Amino acid sequence: MTKGQDLRDALERLAQAGRLSRVTGEVHPKFEMAAVLAQQPNRNVVIFDRIAGSSMRAVGNVVDRINYAISCDIEPTLEASLDHITRGLEHPIEPVLTAEAPCRDVVVTEGIDLAAQLPIPTFFEKEAGPYISADIVIAKDPETGKRNVSMNRLLLLGPDQLMIGMSPSHHLHQLKLKAERLGKSLEVAIAIGNHPAVLVAANAYVDLGVDEFAIAGGMLGEPLRLSPGVTVDVEAPAGAEIVIEARFESGEYYEEGLVSEFHGMYVDYGKSPVLRVTAVTHRNDPYFQFVLPGKYHEHFLMGGMAIETTLLWNIRKSVSCAKAVYITEGGMGRCHAVVSLANPRPGEGQKAVFAAFAHCNLVKQVTVVDDDIRIDDPHEVEWAVAARMRAQQDLMIIPGVRTDRAEPLVDGGTVAKIGIIALRQQEAMPLAEIPDDVMNNVKRNWDRYKIRPADDYT
Ligand code: MN
Repeated sequence: MTKGQDLRDALERLAQAGRLSRVTGEVHPKFEMAAVLAQQPNRNVVIFDRIAGSSMRAVGNVVDRINYAISCDIEPTLEASLDHITRGLEHPIEPVLTAEAPCRDVVVTEGIDLAAQLPIPTFFEKEAGPYISADIVIAKDPETGKRNVSMNRLLLLGPDQLMIGMSPSHHLHQLKLKAERLGKSLEVAIAIGNHPAVLVAANAYVDLGVDEFAIAGGMLGEPLRLSPGVTVDVEAPAGAEIVIEARFESGEYYEEGLVSEFHGMYVDYGKSPVLRVTAVTHRNDPYFQFVLPGKYHEHFLMGGMAIETTLLWNIRKSVSCAKAVYITEGGMGRCHAVVSLANPRPGEGQKAVFAAFAHCNLVKQVTVVDDDIRIDDPHEVEWAVAARMRAQQDLMIIPGVRTDRAEPLVDGGTVAKIGIIALRQQEAMPLAEIPDDVMNNVKRNWDRYKIRPADDYT
């Protein structure tokens, strides 16, 4: 059986693994979809069968570390996900065009009314309106023709108008400027309802000119199948649930007001560009995929899993003993990295810290440990800090380092950054261990102990 590359292939696997929950009661898109996902007691995928005012179903919580592993048919470990995403970075596979495109089952080019067609949720109290939050935006460099794929929030402004959020340093913004210099307006395809691997690839921190769809292909082990646009010269994944085609309205901007960020607070980024929609195409009976933004785990992980893998890839270029990187959820899925090193030489921990800061502006705390520590276990990492970090010499505080505009403590574009070197010392006390053979025997013969729940102590 092929692993598949569509959201539906992932949902099929997740259903078989018992990772789906279904909301059968009616839910309103204004705040209620958000409130249900925010209070969902586990990390199952949540399917919303009935949404007020819409005939489409919705799906959220698709990306979680376990869900990702099930969707991609890999082991549910940090190492496996790092390997999986690294394979995409190192061995990208170019996408292919296909005529067989479920995302074009229904094509609407006249009388477009996004609010009537899609169940677009409003998430937070003071935000400007409903947002499309789990979309990928595909565009082509107007000079080189090279593809770029990114995730951008889309604020619903009118029947065929969306505001698109992006920072000035964003690749898509650079392509928009290039188009304007050539007297053109940049065309985009916006795909909603994608396989988790495609979503993580879209978040990869790679150079302009690198096609994130080729990274997704490398991750999935097969070329991503794309469908040509109906009204734009931009392809979208043929198996996407919904595709919106649009072009930038030249010179038009919208004052967004407050918008939530990954740190769970509102920010005001000012004005952002406006898109005019030229077509909406979708599958028969599509799923509208959304991510609960702000300080919620799916938002953390979509960025965090991409950041940690590209961090590892880049740290290894200068610190070859780097073994794994983990971006913590407590650090907002963006700001705190843990790096493990295999038998580092003196000073390589510090080099890893510098490499991490050099690669990603958002990262502001890097903890470096040995590879006997499971870096995705916060207790083990804290143990390493307690046992191995000598604060007088292993703590690096570097003030005034360039950061991202989203950083909660940003001050003139900079923030103070912290490196914590929690590496084993030559003269460290030996670890107290139970003999290996006894540990293994007990594990192997676990049933022999007849361990059962007890309701008395006498
Ligand atoms: Mn890019």
